[in-house]
Amino acid sequence: MKPFSYARVINVQDAVQAGADPDTIFLAGGTELLNWMRLNIAAPARVLDISRVQGLDSIDPLPDGGLRIGALTRLNDAAQHDAVVRDYPVLSQAILKAASAQLRNLATIGGNPVQRTRCPYYRAEETLPCNKRMPGSGCSALHGVNDRHAIFGWTDACVATQPSDPAVALAVLDAVIATEGPQGGRRIPAREFHTLPDQHPELHNVLQQGELITHVELPAPARRSAYLKVRERESYEYATVSAAVAVETDGDLIRSARIALGSVAHRPWRLDAAERDLVGTRVGSSEARQAIEKAFGDARPLSHNAYKIPLARNAALRALDSAARMS
Ligand code: SF4
Repeated sequence: MKPFSYARVINVQDAVQAGADPDTIFLAGGTELLNWMRLNIAAPARVLDISRVQGLDSIDPLPDGGLRIGALTRLNDAAQHDAVVRDYPVLSQAILKAASAQLRNLATIGGNPVQRTRCPYYRAEETLPCNKRMPGSGCSALHGVNDRHAIFGWTDACVATQPSDPAVALAVLDAVIATEGPQGGRRIPAREFHTLPDQHPELHNVLQQGELITHVELPAPARRSAYLKVRERESYEYATVSAAVAVETDGDLIRSARIALGSVAHRPWRLDAAERDLVGTRVGSSEARQAIEKAFGDARPLSHNAYKIPLARNAALRALDSAARMS
């Protein structure tokens, strides 16, 4: 690991000012950054500890009925907060399916979506072709081991997926990620926070150098919402696929539906066409199933991951049923 200096800031303004230096990287919970440094994925000259920045660790109601979650709120605190459990069960469930209890006690709601792909070539200890890690070097996964990789939104330059569970819930809730940065503040729709490889395969998200996530805003409650995560080990594992659903029903008649899939693309993948087609269908009906099946017509499996299509489709259907059954 390359030697680095350490500094701590306690307010947003100082964080943004010091973070503008391109050799500086923010440290919050530290559960992901230390992996990057150990693997030499990141080799900053200075680590800036933002974990004690004031005012970023509370959960507060918004005047419009939504909820504001400070970026430094620990994952377990967010998942167990009364308003999150009651009004946004999809987010509580997604957080509690992420990592281990010990990691969730350290990791933050602002830091979790910033985690990077688990692509084994990206995280290899040896140097392998990887456009994300070394732009222009190629993509080892395209014709290599790609069973955990994307079925939507990939290009020959990168077929990676984004692994965050909470990010999938934030995308289905139409949450906003608020930031402060050298160019001022931004409000970024959660579903557009992660980049796709057709933009710049080396990028992970839209954050700029020195841009600090300050909080996440959830719009009006989505009490009928659910998260389903399919993984190889129930105790601790990244998602093979996942599905987040928020639905409004009248009896079993679907009035509105939102669906986001996880671990199928380099961003949470909203099924916009299925969301439109589901309106007016009944939960559990053949029409509802067809609406979701049709949305997979755009899926493009790689050589080893065609299994993800039926897996994700069935996860979406099961999450829809679960959300519709919420009281
Ligand atoms: Fe690198 Fe992306 Fe290819 Fe993985 S999928 S090897 S992260 S370029």
